[in-house]
Amino acid sequence: MHIEVRGLNKQFGDFHAVRDVDFDIAKGQLIGLLGPSGGGKTSILRMLAGLETPSAGDILFHGKRVNDLPPQERGIGFVFQNYALFKHMTVYDNVAFGLKVKKEAKDVIRERVMSLIELTGLKGFEHRYPHQLSGGQRQRVAFARALAPQPQLLLLDEPFAAIDAKIRTELRTWLKDMIERLGITSIFVTHDQDEAIEVADEIMIINKGRLEQKGTPWDIYKSPQTQFVASFIGESTIVDSVEQLKGFEEAANWPGTKALIRPEYIEIGRRSDFRIPSATVEGIVRHLHFRGSEWMVEVDVGGIKLITYRSLEKEVLTPGEPIHVLIHRAYLFNDNDTWIMENK
Ligand code: ATP
Repeated sequence: MHIEVRGLNKQFGDFHAVRDVDFDIAKGQLIGLLGPSGGGKTSILRMLAGLETPSAGDILFHGKRVNDLPPQERGIGFVFQNYALFKHMTVYDNVAFGLKVKKEAKDVIRERVMSLIELTGLKGFEHRYPHQLSGGQRQRVAFARALAPQPQLLLLDEPFAAIDAKIRTELRTWLKDMIERLGITSIFVTHDQDEAIEVADEIMIINKGRLEQKGTPWDIYKSPQTQFVASFIGESTIVDSVEQLKGFEEAANWPGTKALIRPEYIEIGRRSDFRIPSATVEGIVRHLHFRGSEWMVEVDVGGIKLITYRSLEKEVLTPGEPIHVLIHRAYLFNDNDTWIMENK
């Protein structure tokens, strides 16, 4: 389903929870609504669902305004964080629920439910009750139940939040795969950036009621359009005093400019490791954290703490030792502008 949202606003009394949000979602896309708690993600999802009325703005499905359409007439499936399964019903009856409400014929229901049970890997569990299932299995039942009435849009509110970390990763991959196979337009809410990056075709970053940026995970990571997006996605250090950053001193000409440095913008090593040693600046290794596949290194450069990573093949560093640092690029921002600067 193709979705258009224009000038969407939601006010709860004096509180402006969603502000002037505009976006388009193409059919079959998997979209992650990402942002800090209280930003307005759930409110946007609930307005799309028809569970909340917009204070202003339009929501269009297939080019048709649906603002006044009740939830059950919007062709939507839901999956919530806490499964919201019917406890007194078996897996089969949970999945069949929406079809029974629609008064579908018994054999149609049976065929559709069994094919969904198979699709979601729940074969053999049809007669179990929710309390006899693991968290991951319950969430798969919730997913099958949402899909049973053949919705054109699937809305998922923090669908993995209540699941153990290890199973969560599996379930994410499974869900992405499933949604791709079915080609159903889907929107999920999360506050976990790794989850959004791994799963979504496109991410929408929501902060303080505003849509800060929409794009592919890679686009957002490499070209953040606001300071908030830059610091919310990926790891970084924010440097207030740019005049201290070797190679970026020029940025100090623009008052109020700060720099955001990502770990991969930084190269560390012995002086002789660098092609142009004069481009480097001397720092001190402060901390080393072993991360399993690499070292996370915290380096102090004139009082600025920078974080970078170092592969295991390289010589092991020790805290307190001097090290040369080359900053390849910086993401710069001030109140008016954001831009990327390379160290030439
Ligand atoms: P979370 O990740 O914590 O769920 P969110 O980004 O989904 O956050 P929303 O649930 O959309 O955020 O809430 C946005 C803001 O609107 C919050 O400050 C919340 O307290 C407020 N809010 C949400 N629903 C209501 C309501 N019914 N009445 C008053 N304020 C509300």
